[in-house]
Amino acid sequence: MAERMLKFINLPQQTPEKRPAEARREDFREIYADFQPEAATQQASRCSQCGIPFCQVHCPLSNNIPDWLKLTAEGRLEEAYELSSATNTFPEICGRICPQDRLCEGNCVIEKGFDSITIGAVERYITDTAFDNDWVKPIAPLAERAQSVGIIGAGPAGLAAAERLRAQGYQVTVYDRHDRVGGLLIYGIPGFKLEKEIVLRRWKWLEEGGVKFVLGADIGGATPFAELRAKHDAVLIATGVYKAREIGGPGAGLPGIVKALDYLITSNRQGLGDAVPDYDSGLLNAAGKDVVVIGGGDTAMDCVRTAIRQGAKSVTCLYRRDRQNMPGSLREVKNAEEEGVNFVWLSAPEAFLGDDKVTGVRAMRMHLGLPDASGRQSVEPIEGSSFTVKADLVIKALGFDPEELPGAFNEPELKLTGWGTLKVNARNFETSLPGVFAAGDIVRGASLVVWAIRDGRDAAAAIHRQFQAAQQSQAAE
Ligand code: FAD
Ligand code: SF4
Ligand code: SF4
Repeated sequence: MAERMLKFINLPQQTPEKRPAEARREDFREIYADFQPEAATQQASRCSQCGIPFCQVHCPLSNNIPDWLKLTAEGRLEEAYELSSATNTFPEICGRICPQDRLCEGNCVIEKGFDSITIGAVERYITDTAFDNDWVKPIAPLAERAQSVGIIGAGPAGLAAAERLRAQGYQVTVYDRHDRVGGLLIYGIPGFKLEKEIVLRRWKWLEEGGVKFVLGADIGGATPFAELRAKHDAVLIATGVYKAREIGGPGAGLPGIVKALDYLITSNRQGLGDAVPDYDSGLLNAAGKDVVVIGGGDTAMDCVRTAIRQGAKSVTCLYRRDRQNMPGSLREVKNAEEEGVNFVWLSAPEAFLGDDKVTGVRAMRMHLGLPDASGRQSVEPIEGSSFTVKADLVIKALGFDPEELPGAFNEPELKLTGWGTLKVNARNFETSLPGVFAAGDIVRGASLVVWAIRDGRDAAAAIHRQFQAAQQSQAAE
């Protein structure tokens, strides 16, 4: 092993080639090129094959990282793919968009002193190679089972559950209010992080494996939730969180102040070739405008970088904490800065200016005070520090809360947590309604794709266990 591995001592870290910022600004293609085979092999061979692999411990899917790195280093890519896809339903997606600096790579032992193994890029390379070589086969259940499961939400949690349940032979139907599969993977996350073809390819793969999709189905709207419960033996709610947090203050209702997800969905639809009147009219299009984005999470980063690509005159991001204390990935901040985004740290809006539409944002400087009980520093305004930023498009990216599901689903017995997310039994993902399960952001609150996949897989396993237990007790009677 030592011959092929442990090369971190002599071999420096190499990431896949990153396109120059000037070229990136012009289109929505991904910014990282594919790993070349030789580079992927070499980078995988840097791994020291730790006895206790902290990379794996900090991967929400407990991916068997050292083993698939070793197989890659040995050129045994098909085996690497088999291993990597055993724990992750969408390795090529996680390889692209996981915040690896906070998860696997940030905990790689050789990060200290040397640079970590580029785990995400190798994971992406393995599965992209598998698709290119036709090693990715449709889901093939060993036997068909009569029980059916209805899944509400075609985001990563719903899709990961669908794959697991279908692999067990269940009849699976996924319902989504959108017209395409993928949830935030298709309509939230822009193409420069995750090209749409990658998501569409998985949609086709799931359909080929026998998963049925009913799109344009708004459950709790035109289609009552009770209809699904009557139709299926179990229901999984994986609806994500979509209620945008609002911002107050004078002028907050002026035209030209828009919600982040409305803006991103419009941009993604336009990129997918849909007719989008709000884009054509300029309402949700940054071209030629001075744009201000408010927030410091992943959504804000995606908005600023989308505005750059749409040809904004200027793009400014206001965030009330500093760079070190922002929730978004620092890698994305660096990418945004390279592309021309101006960050004004420690600043928060005070008022929105303009008569019949927004023309500027008056903001205040902030400073970080003493930590509260959770250890997070408080944010306090600095008196007399107001300044104005010109803006004809203001995008609010302050986070999301869950929609009120018991009302929408006409199920008052559906219990919520104090945060408005669905309350589930931690052992089996079952909600307070028997036979109704939940997974993903609607349980965790706004989180990450990799956690949604993990929850979807675990919820599917719990549903399977429950079906089996019911069968066994029927057989015993
Ligand atoms: P979602 O992906 O939100 O999918 C829920 C689905 O349910 C949607 O398709 C929706 O249409 C459908 N639905 C909702 N209500 C109903 C209903 N009543 N009837 C029918 N269908 C319904 N995470 C990362 O790991 N890396 C990133 O880089 C990253 N970037 C992000 C960028 C943005 C702009 C946003 C908003 C989030 C980002 N995230 C990122 C977070 C990640 O996308 C989510 O954590 C993840 O998608 C949650 O998966 P989910 O399946 O629970 O929900
Ligand atoms: Fe790292 Fe995410 Fe892949 Fe896990 S799934 S190994 S955290 S990139
Ligand atoms: Fe390899 Fe780093 Fe994981 Fe250790 S922590 S097994 S060196 S990737």
